[in-house]
Amino acid sequence: MGEFELIAAIARSCRTLPDNGFEGIGDDCAVLPVGDGEALVFTCDALCEGVHFLRDAISPEALGAKTLAVNLSDVAAMGVRPVATLLALSLPADLDAGWAERFVAGYTAASERSGVALVGGDTTRSTSGVVLSVTAIGRGPAAHLKRRRDARIGDAIFVTDRLGASAAGLRDLLAGRCGTPLAEIHRTPQAEIEAGPWLGEQPAVHAMMDLSDGLASDLRHILAASHCGAAIDLDAIPVAAGATLDDALGGGEDYKLLLTVSATAADGLASAFEARFGRPLYRVGRIEAADDAALRWLRDGNPVVGDWLGFRHF
Ligand code: ADP
Ligand code: MG
Repeated sequence: MGEFELIAAIARSCRTLPDNGFEGIGDDCAVLPVGDGEALVFTCDALCEGVHFLRDAISPEALGAKTLAVNLSDVAAMGVRPVATLLALSLPADLDAGWAERFVAGYTAASERSGVALVGGDTTRSTSGVVLSVTAIGRGPAAHLKRRRDARIGDAIFVTDRLGASAAGLRDLLAGRCGTPLAEIHRTPQAEIEAGPWLGEQPAVHAMMDLSDGLASDLRHILAASHCGAAIDLDAIPVAAGATLDDALGGGEDYKLLLTVSATAADGLASAFEARFGRPLYRVGRIEAADDAALRWLRDGNPVVGDWLGFRHF
């Protein structure tokens, strides 16, 4: 059973939620309305040594900041601000002296920069490498929340930055080139914690999620949840310097945002975003009618057929 089948099975087995407006499994965060038009959102992501990082390829401080960033990214993807985290540390006996302290220093410095409080957690021994697990909590107006299920036919599809640098950096790291600028980008993701809440305030933004597995894979979650399809213009994909189109579409860990916007408001929103953040919002395609989350790839406006798009996540 793959990751997504397992999550679907878990979701089926806990379908009954308390009758209090909870929204559970299926989006970047769970949602708990708390009254007065406000909601809390919750997310949990773990980083495991040997799966998500190599202990000797990243400093403990940078790993601390990254562990926080990947969790704040899911809060930003809901369109609200992160406010607090809980940190569970599972640490093996063979850690270098000072490693845990340096990790926590990186985590707490990044928390301070992000205006997020570390309010609890857990600390245990691990017999199989470092395992870092964070629960992040966000808060904001319930009306600002953006979900994967709200894309509408005709929406323009945008991403908030150039894509693929993290995947290209991972390739450098795995080849032993740990000092390249791309490897540094892979080690130091920057979650969109300012852009996310700003986009949350925009009624023209319909669906939103963060890009952790690559556009080609992640967009399918929006399409499946919104019961629609999409056409993506390959010429419009903003490929990061040093990355390939495959990195941009199939590589993971960019932690940028993917959103759909009412077609009539799309140009205005892109201009307002650029005025606010001093960088563009990239329009990459549109939402179409389809009942099977169909994703069409276009080049020069013409459909690209065949299976040459050899993404890892297909
Ligand atoms: P993301 O990449 O945004 O972190 P995931 O693909 O990890 O999202 O998870 C998709 C959805 O499934 C989320 O709503 C998440 O909370 C839920 N989920 C993932 N793993 C589990 C689990 N073991 N138990 C319950 N819910 C889970
Ligand atoms: Mg996510």
